[in-house]
Amino acid sequence: MHHITVIGGGFAGLTAAITAAEAGAKVTVYEAHHTLGGRARTAEGPYRTNEGPHALYSGGPHWTWLKQRDLIGPLAPIPPLEAARLRLHHRGALRRTPPFAMLKLLRRASRQAPVDVDFMTWATAEAGEEGARAAANYSAVALFHHDPGALSAAFVQERLRRAMRLPPEAHYPRGGWASVIDRMAARAWNLGVRMETLSRVDEVPVNRGPVVVATSLDAARRLLGDPSLTWTGGRTALVDLALRTRRGDAFAVSDLDAPGWIERFTAQDRTLAPAGEQLIQGQIPIAPHESRADGVARAEHLLDLAFDGWRERLVWRREAVANGRTGAVDLPGTSWRDRPRIDRGDGVYLAGDQVAAPGVLSEVSFNSALEAVALALRIRQRLDLKHA
Ligand SMILES: Cc1cc2nc3c(=O)[nH]c(=O)nc-3n(C[C@H](O)[C@H](O)[C@H](O)COP(=O)(O)OP(=O)(O)OC[C@H]3O[C@@H](n4cnc5c(N)ncnc54)[C@H](O)[C@@H]3O)c2cc1C
Repeated sequence: MHHITVIGGGFAGLTAAITAAEAGAKVTVYEAHHTLGGRARTAEGPYRTNEGPHALYSGGPHWTWLKQRDLIGPLAPIPPLEAARLRLHHRGALRRTPPFAMLKLLRRASRQAPVDVDFMTWATAEAGEEGARAAANYSAVALFHHDPGALSAAFVQERLRRAMRLPPEAHYPRGGWASVIDRMAARAWNLGVRMETLSRVDEVPVNRGPVVVATSLDAARRLLGDPSLTWTGGRTALVDLALRTRRGDAFAVSDLDAPGWIERFTAQDRTLAPAGEQLIQGQIPIAPHESRADGVARAEHLLDLAFDGWRERLVWRREAVANGRTGAVDLPGTSWRDRPRIDRGDGVYLAGDQVAAPGVLSEVSFNSALEAVALALRIRQRLDLKHA
């Protein structure tokens, strides 16, 4: 039986662990934190906030894989009345419908958008500047960058189409992603995976079989002492709020004038906050020269427009900045194939959301975890054959 070490117990690490154990390998997972889940953890306490993922995109490869194993669990569907409360901030006012020029862009498949041209240039030629700008800013919900128009057209177009698909791809596991993580951990446990929490690894173990480094790319760079492990990512101000309930609040606001998204997650999942309160998160990408306060000010402006009297209804509030924690973004001339490769040599493999694998957001972690394990097991088999 092969032994595989997985460093990091987030979505990528658990995917790798389950895949390897299902293939018959003996697996040990080391997780630095006292609980599993990484960015997919959901806060304990009255306000069940997620630092990272909320939406599980049903068009992604992880959806089928999780479903086949019964790991998604109950979902929190968006009631139609709430879905109708999606608002778009365009030309300084809230609207119900997107500009027509923006919709024109949806007719273009991702593969029709070039890799080596920035989105604004390509989309302006397709739909005019106003539609291109609105589309770029809408796509921020799935890429978290302060200037989506400056990124590769192919990269942005894929996210725009996925984020605007009807019926929507975004599904919400009831209770947050922690419920999916708990199911994955239980599955790993039942497959005999050894999971050690509060176990930060400072050196890659040698002579213990292949190692999958399933940490953030920053942590992998430090662990492997390899300065080449970098890729572009976004910086996003996060504002979490609990407000006393008021009928008529928006479900979500997408800013088409600048990248930004505000969502009332209790619209679909009442379990996330105490009765009579609503849990809201604002996600406002900020430029390198901008501060958290700049992002918060933009979030507050959207809140003023869409959540009447929110300041008087506020019962709890938290702010943070997610720096390089929202996955990879690809600049013009680059695609996922140019990111740090999975196979690092000497039986070490990378899995995570900033490495060379396709997909949107956490799907990159998922795809790279599958690939890392496939490579690791094949190498072992080849070695075994050599020794046979
Ligand atoms: C604001 C925000 C919103 C997002 N929204 C979505 C969304 O809606 N949908 C979606 O699909 N994705 C979303 N994402 C992206 C998603 O959160 C990530 O892609 C995914 O959680 C990454 O998982 P991972 O396992 O690759 O990394 P992580 O979750 O970072 O896991 C890495 C783990 O490794 C551990 N670790 C690090 N160093 C060591 C070490 N030396 N030894 C042992 N353990 C170590 C860490 O403690 C951590 O648990 C969002 C992210 C953010 C920040």
